[in-house]
Amino acid sequence: MEQNGPKYKRVVLKLSGEALAGGEGYGIDMETLDTIATQIKEITDIGTEVSVVTGGGNIWRGAAAGKEGMDRASADYMGMLATMINALALQDMLERLDVDTRVQTAIEMRQVAEPYIRRRAIRHLEKGRVVIFAGGTGNPFFSTDTTAALRAAEIEASVILLAKGKVDAVYDSDPLVNQNAMYYSELKYMDILNKDLGVMDSTAASLCKDNSIPIIVFGLSKEGNIKKAVLGEKIGTLIK
Ligand code: UDP
Repeated sequence: MEQNGPKYKRVVLKLSGEALAGGEGYGIDMETLDTIATQIKEITDIGTEVSVVTGGGNIWRGAAAGKEGMDRASADYMGMLATMINALALQDMLERLDVDTRVQTAIEMRQVAEPYIRRRAIRHLEKGRVVIFAGGTGNPFFSTDTTAALRAAEIEASVILLAKGKVDAVYDSDPLVNQNAMYYSELKYMDILNKDLGVMDSTAASLCKDNSIPIIVFGLSKEGNIKKAVLGEKIGTLIK
């Protein structure tokens, strides 16, 4: 372990689909995936127990398809399958870097991944394996942010690292649109619920609030940010 050991021993890293898409905005960019996997390896090397929840927005968003007339539940199941595609891609990249991994899915898919079993997930983490949670919560009408909150509560993670693709923190308006957007270094859960900041959905925020799980929102555009977050260095926005 490094002299400055990790501040957070067990983490849930939420990777939005967008964060995997690189500049393309769609699909999986291999170079981006490599950078992320390398950063994950870095934090396992300093003794952090790492689980990852993959999003799916780079491939499919249920709500958007629902608005276009598709049956919402079916559209959401498609979204959950998209998270599995991302999970398998990340697993492959991590294993290329000699990181031991397991994918656990909320939707049974025995040929490709283990089913989600809480105790087994914890065991994997204790053995130093990276556990990738795929398939969201397994239920339509939820999000992978909520999945991250739920799994964090279940495995008693010390923090959720909410990694974003384009933005590097929480602002009062979209910093990509409004140059004068105000940056928040710290927020309370209630701010997320009251101010409609769009950083995560209210179900996820409530779950974190009820279980007192801190969330660090930060950007992946700078390499090394995941390690900084785990070491407790000030980056992005801390929600607690
Ligand atoms: N999804 C779902 N239930 C869940 C998690 C995800 O139905 O528990 C579906 C939903 O359709 C969502 C899609 O999967 O639009 C992709 O997840 P999300 O939008 O959270 O991914 P991200 O925005 O993080 O890329």
